Amino acid sequence: MKRLYEPMAYGTGPIAESFWPTTVPDIPAHPAVSGDVRAEVAVIGAGFTGLNAALALAEAGRDVVVLEAEQPGWGASGRNGGFCCLGGAKAGPDQILRQFGDAETRAYYRAERAAVDHVGALLDRHGIEADLHSDGETLLAFRPKDVKVLEGVAEDIRRWQQVDCEVLPQAALAERGMASPEFHGAVTTPIGFALNPMKYALGLAKAAVGAGARLFGQSPVIAMSRENGDHLLTTDQGRVRARTLVIATNGYGSDDLPPALAGRYLPVQSNVLVTRPLTDAEIAAQGWSSRQMCYDTRHLLHYFRLMPNRRMLFGLRGAMKTTPTAHDQTRAIARADFERIFPAWRHVETPYFWSGLLCLSRGLMPYAGPVPGVDNAFTAMAYHGNGVAMGSYAGHLLAAQITGAGPATPAPLRAPLKRFELGRWRRALLPLAYAFYGLQDRG
Ligand SMILES: Cc1cc2nc3c(=O)[nH]c(=O)nc-3n(C[C@H](O)[C@H](O)[C@H](O)COP(=O)(O)OP(=O)(O)OC[C@H]3O[C@@H](n4cnc5c(N)ncnc54)[C@H](O)[C@@H]3O)c2cc1C
Repeated sequence: MKRLYEPMAYGTGPIAESFWPTTVPDIPAHPAVSGDVRAEVAVIGAGFTGLNAALALAEAGRDVVVLEAEQPGWGASGRNGGFCCLGGAKAGPDQILRQFGDAETRAYYRAERAAVDHVGALLDRHGIEADLHSDGETLLAFRPKDVKVLEGVAEDIRRWQQVDCEVLPQAALAERGMASPEFHGAVTTPIGFALNPMKYALGLAKAAVGAGARLFGQSPVIAMSRENGDHLLTTDQGRVRARTLVIATNGYGSDDLPPALAGRYLPVQSNVLVTRPLTDAEIAAQGWSSRQMCYDTRHLLHYFRLMPNRRMLFGLRGAMKTTPTAHDQTRAIARADFERIFPAWRHVETPYFWSGLLCLSRGLMPYAGPVPGVDNAFTAMAYHGNGVAMGSYAGHLLAAQITGAGPATPAPLRAPLKRFELGRWRRALLPLAYAFYGLQDRG
């Protein structure tokens, strides 16, 4: 395989201390594929993208096989912060507008909204209990001059989503249970909610199997080729033939699977701490009782939410390597940031810390469409750290592209995936980008 990160990134090390598995008592193990298997559609990867594609395809009567290297939700989908919210593009509205024009930009932002509604509807329809909380999401200004960023975000949301946003001055934060010396104001977008991502991923897997999809775990695809117009996927123990292929590997992709996607995606790491349950006295001492999911105005942002179980989840982007040393260093940075933002919780233990890979595209837009130059092959990826909703919807859109029924994919989501500079060595772009963002994020 031609993967970009150190081997640790693709093993159990980064999730050895993940909180999410502790919330699900019996995680079903799906067996490995063995022997020769035939299907109409083969899906590689059982995260939100692959499982949504498989569910919709199976519900449409297609014979679907899902091949997952580990188990459903093993990738970013079972280890994220659980923010189900607008987003997916790193490009801003001005760039999208310049590139695609008014009608397609509107269609793109309608898709962002549809993505959130899609997840809400799936949870309801399949009775997935995923510990929901938060009424929309709240963006906090980490320095006084960012208060005008909040106004800009509110204006964009009003324009593209036709909903009003509440902008709060610093003086109002404490009375909303969001007291921190770090923040100077807030804006709340009333769309989105927080969920337990592992419960959502496992619920999706169960729904897909219930609809007729055949789901195999411990089945890493190690080679792919063509035979009589079919895709032939080889794993350690089996071979799967299918007329149509969906590649849903996102940040865990490999430059040879298939070579046509090499260099067109860039995995980056995100990291999460979770505290022990906080007491009433500790919550009062900090003045942070809000159940809103929040993030800050940094480029290398923090994201956090007080969960219904009274544990604080605290995430941050960054870290350029996945090695034991880098893991420990990132944990220390996360902990220092947590203590600065919530000084009354300096003594509170954070027994859980883990990381995973999300994915960027060169055009800073998510993608859901054909694999360039490969017949009957589709992929969706690059949600820029916002794949709970957008990844789910992108998988659903791929199914619609394959069956010809269902929602249309807006043009900005189908714009060809460009290659990054430096090809195989594109990870070397990250230190430069992080240094640039680090300078912009100075207080
Ligand atoms: C720490 C962290 C926090 C995040 N927080 C948020 C958040 O709060 N909100 C939000 O919207 N987004 C968040 N994200 C991003 C979000 O989790 C992802 O965008 C989303 O889960 C991507 O889903 P996916 O199905 O495309 O990919 P993944 O969930 O990564 O799934 C890809 C799967 O493909 C499998 N695979 C790879 N190669 C092969 C192969 N050769 N054969 C078989 N299987 C293979 C992998 O094992 C993996 O399970 C976060 C990401 C991380 C890492």
